[in-house]
Amino acid sequence: MNERKSVDILCTVCGADTFVIRNPKYDGFTRIGDSFACAACGHEFAGEEEVPFKEKEVLRVFTEADRPAPVKVFHEGEAERLCRHCVNYVVNPFMQWCALHKKEVEATDTCNRFEPKPVKEEPPPGEPGKVKLE
Ligand SMILES: [Zn+2]
Repeated sequence: MNERKSVDILCTVCGADTFVIRNPKYDGFTRIGDSFACAACGHEFAGEEEVPFKEKEVLRVFTEADRPAPVKVFHEGEAERLCRHCVNYVVNPFMQWCALHKKEVEATDTCNRFEPKPVKEEPPPGEPGKVKLE
């Protein structure tokens, strides 16, 4: 029972945020492995690989968040919720356009449908005026 550091699970059967009960399995006097059962609903998992340990959940999230956060630049808050930072903002030689509201906008406009433009789409510094439209 104390062989693992963490036995917290999110049970895939009953959905409970609980822990797993680990019991050694014997065939006669020979230990053949362990059984793993949900403490909430009693479901016995087929093997350790089947146990939805919360540890694994955390590890998986970590891998996905391994990339740099694209919206970090806009962390300043309301002051940065300008049309020119919005994913729906389109600029062409004639006007600045909101693709969401289908109307002309100013770069300094704000609206409640603001969505931060992913940083990747920003033109690299040193190339002013070149805006990638996608
Ligand atoms: Zn359960």
